[in-house]
Amino acid sequence: MIQAHELTKWYGPNLAIDRLSFEIPRGQIVGFLGPNGAGKTTTLRILTGYLPPTAGTAQVAGFDVLAQAREARQKIGYLPEHTPLYPEMRVEEYLHFRGQVFNMDRRLRKARIDVVVDRCGLQPVRRRLIGRLSKGNRQRVGLAQALLHDPPLLILDEPTAGLDPNQITEIRNLFAELRGQHTILLSTHILPEVEKTADRVMIIAGGRIVANGSLAELRQKMQAGAKVLVELAADPAAVQKALASLPGVAEVTVDGREGWCQAVVQPKGMDDLRQAIGQAAANNRWAIRELRAEHASLESYFIRITAQQNQAIEAA
Ligand code: ATP
Repeated sequence: MIQAHELTKWYGPNLAIDRLSFEIPRGQIVGFLGPNGAGKTTTLRILTGYLPPTAGTAQVAGFDVLAQAREARQKIGYLPEHTPLYPEMRVEEYLHFRGQVFNMDRRLRKARIDVVVDRCGLQPVRRRLIGRLSKGNRQRVGLAQALLHDPPLLILDEPTAGLDPNQITEIRNLFAELRGQHTILLSTHILPEVEKTADRVMIIAGGRIVANGSLAELRQKMQAGAKVLVELAADPAAVQKALASLPGVAEVTVDGREGWCQAVVQPKGMDDLRQAIGQAAANNRWAIRELRAEHASLESYFIRITAQQNQAIEAA
C-alpha cells in the first residue's frame, strides 16, 4: 500500500529524515513510533503530499505522491496532528465541505456522511457547532473527514493526543472496527496503544528507521541484548564464577539470601543469554526458581534502541 524509497527532508541546514525506505503491506495496522522531533510528522506530510521531499520517492496504492498527487490523495484519509477544523461550522456542514473537496456529488456525500457519522459516534452532535465540541468529539470529526471518501489507506498523526483515558479507549475501539477494511499508519507516543492495536511497528529516531517489523518479530528482538535475571539454589560465589565465564557475558552481579542466589547478567552484545545460563545451571545441578530477560517491554526496547541511535548520531 505504501512504498517509500530513500525519503530525505532537509529544513534549511537541518536534516529531518534521512534516506527512509520502507513498505507497508495492504490491510495492516502499523504503529509509527519515535521520540519528539524524530521525523514522524515530516514523513506523514510527505506521504500525504503536503510536503515535497528533498530527495527520494514514495508511492501510495501505486501512485507517486508528487507526480500523481491527486490520484494518491484519493487513496488516503489523513488526520493531521492539528486538524484544521472550522469552529463556526456545524459537524454535518463541515463534512459536506470536505466531501466537496474530494469531488463527491451531493447524493454520495449525504450517504457517506450518514455512514461516517454513525461509525464515529457523531450522531448526537451532528448538528452542533464544531467550536462547542469536546476534544474527543473534535477528534471524531477529524476521523470522520478522513474516512469520508472511503480511502483504502488511513494516515493518522497522534490521533489520541490530548484525550482522556475513556476517549482513548473509544478511539482505539474504533480502530479495531476499521481493521481489515483499511490499511492504517498510526503515529503515536503511546506505546501500550501500539501493543494493543498494531500488527506492525516502525520505530524512527534521529530521522532514521531503527526498527521495522511485526510485533512478534520485535518481541524476539526485544529479548536480544537484554539483561537476564536468574534465581538459583546455589552459592553466590560459585554462580558469579560460572556465569562470568560464559561466552558473551559482560558483567554478573549476584546477591544471595536464604539459600537462594539472584544474579543479573549483562550481555556484551545483542545475545540472548537465557539458554546458556539455563544450561550452566543444569550442568551445576542448581535448581532454578526464575529465569527471564529483564527488558521485554516495547517501552524499554524503544528507549534502548532510540538512545543507541542518538549516541550514533552524536558520535558521527
Ligand atoms: P513530534 O513527535 O514532536 O511531533 P516528529 O517525530 O513528528 O516530532 P517532526 O515534526 O517531523 O518530528 O520533526 C523532525 C525534525 O525536523 C525536528 O528536528 C524538527 O525540529 C524539524 N522540523 C520540523 N518541521 C520543521 C520546519 N517547518 N522547519 C524547520 N525544522 C523543522
